[in-house]
Amino acid sequence: MWKQSSAASNREVTAEGAHRMTAIAIIGAGFSGTLLALHLLRRTPASVRVVLIERHNRFAQGPAYATGNPSHLLNVPAGRMSAFHDRPSDFLEWLARQPDAASDVGPASFVPRRQFGVYIRQLLHEELKRPGAADRLELVRGDVAAVEAEPHGPLSLCIGAERRIAADLAVLAIGNFPPEPPVIADPAFFDTPFYQPDPWAGDTLNSLDPDAPVLLIGTGLTMVDTVISLEDAGHRGPIHALSRRGLTPRCHAAGAIAPRRPGAAIPDRLTDSLRMLRAEARRAQREGSSWQAVLDELRPFGRDLWQALPPQDRSRFLRHLRPWWDVHRHRLAPAVSQRIEAARARGQLMIHAGRIESITAGSERATLVYRPRGADERRTLDIARVVNCAGPACDFDRIPHPLVRRLLKDGFVRPDPHRLGLDVTPSGALKDRSGAISRQLFAVGPVTRGAFWEMTAVPDIRRQCELLAAQLAMLA
Ligand SMILES: Cc1cc2nc3c(=O)[nH]c(=O)nc-3n(C[C@H](O)[C@H](O)[C@H](O)COP(=O)(O)OP(=O)(O)OC[C@H]3O[C@@H](n4cnc5c(N)ncnc54)[C@H](O)[C@@H]3O)c2cc1C
Repeated sequence: MWKQSSAASNREVTAEGAHRMTAIAIIGAGFSGTLLALHLLRRTPASVRVVLIERHNRFAQGPAYATGNPSHLLNVPAGRMSAFHDRPSDFLEWLARQPDAASDVGPASFVPRRQFGVYIRQLLHEELKRPGAADRLELVRGDVAAVEAEPHGPLSLCIGAERRIAADLAVLAIGNFPPEPPVIADPAFFDTPFYQPDPWAGDTLNSLDPDAPVLLIGTGLTMVDTVISLEDAGHRGPIHALSRRGLTPRCHAAGAIAPRRPGAAIPDRLTDSLRMLRAEARRAQREGSSWQAVLDELRPFGRDLWQALPPQDRSRFLRHLRPWWDVHRHRLAPAVSQRIEAARARGQLMIHAGRIESITAGSERATLVYRPRGADERRTLDIARVVNCAGPACDFDRIPHPLVRRLLKDGFVRPDPHRLGLDVTPSGALKDRSGAISRQLFAVGPVTRGAFWEMTAVPDIRRQCELLAAQLAMLA
């Protein structure tokens, strides 16, 4: 029995007088959860134990880096993919140490995503080999279904019906969720074998006739991945990709780009920021640099910019500018961009802008009816497979993930006002149903997008992990 056991009470004393360890549980061992665990081990005293819980066999990967396809390249140059903010060349050095290291890999190279997964996994393995690590870091394979809390007591994380893990602090690092299905006239279609809801699942393209027409819902990065996978699998049939605006991700500028400083302070109103961004992009191009460099230069200020915007400007941004921002900000490796352009040029990949009205299953094919953007007419396409590539779902009221449903039902969390993730404070503490700030439950990674907006790519998440680890170290 604990004498006193609130999370804030450090290294509590049992009735017998022995000091017990503070336990910090991390739910989800993708990039965010794994990196947070590494930072916590470095920043907390030996009396703090870290429990890293993952529902899949694969620790330290998540769907982004679990891809086995070597053509799925990172969309951030290797020189910016270090797991550590203060050791920017760590990933590059790791790449150079690999037995099959390519001699031409440099900071501007775009390497396969799976290599990044191996790098993160190896960081975790090295950590486990450090003296004393086995006592402090526990890897648990399990699907956390609920979190229970006693007033002033430790949290209890429920894994199945049998297992409970006690933790003083817990961090949700549950990452990205498969896209939401589009709104169509008869949703019964989603239960047919024509439909693949999860673009990251291993079986998305299984038993597909190589000459059959395919529909990809969405025209962003996930669509690009799927086109590359189709090509690599020898697909010859037409590939239709459809989104409201038909915008596709732009390409990184070739070669390393010298960073530029925006000439003026960043304004805190949306229209002024946009005007400044456009002016800077024009100036950069005039001076022989690129608009890409301007966006990259803005990156470290993204969080401040977002937090400074009034709520109505954030809503306007999401309503009108988000698709444009996404395709300019999250860009393609040049080699990937060339393959996409080639597929379009030979007529195999067709990008459509429009709104889906219905998809119905027939005996051999499904039929898509959509309304092209700005037109009154309807068009139809016969399709053998529909893959939802619409990008990760982020409205937590609609995400069917059991833990999310349970946390919402129990009132431990609430969606953020912009429906980008969960409501968190700038330091990552979750807010409950009433808006009260938790002292025990935190979140890291894409689920915190509402507070930070840019919390998707590695350079943003690694910084967040460092800051959250420092904060939890003060509470532990
Ligand atoms: C396809 C794709 C490609 C990307 N490419 C790049 C890139 O090239 N460069 C870049 O910088 N960024 C990229 N990103 C973005 C970024 O790196 C990822 O969003 C990041 O990996 C997120 O990591 P995460 O750990 O928060 O989430 P995830 O990787 O989604 O991991 C979450 C983990 O939590 C586990 N989990 C969930 N619920 C539970 C539960 N109840 N119990 C136990 N475990 C649970 C899941 O199984 C999963 O392993 C990409 C993202 C995607 C989706």
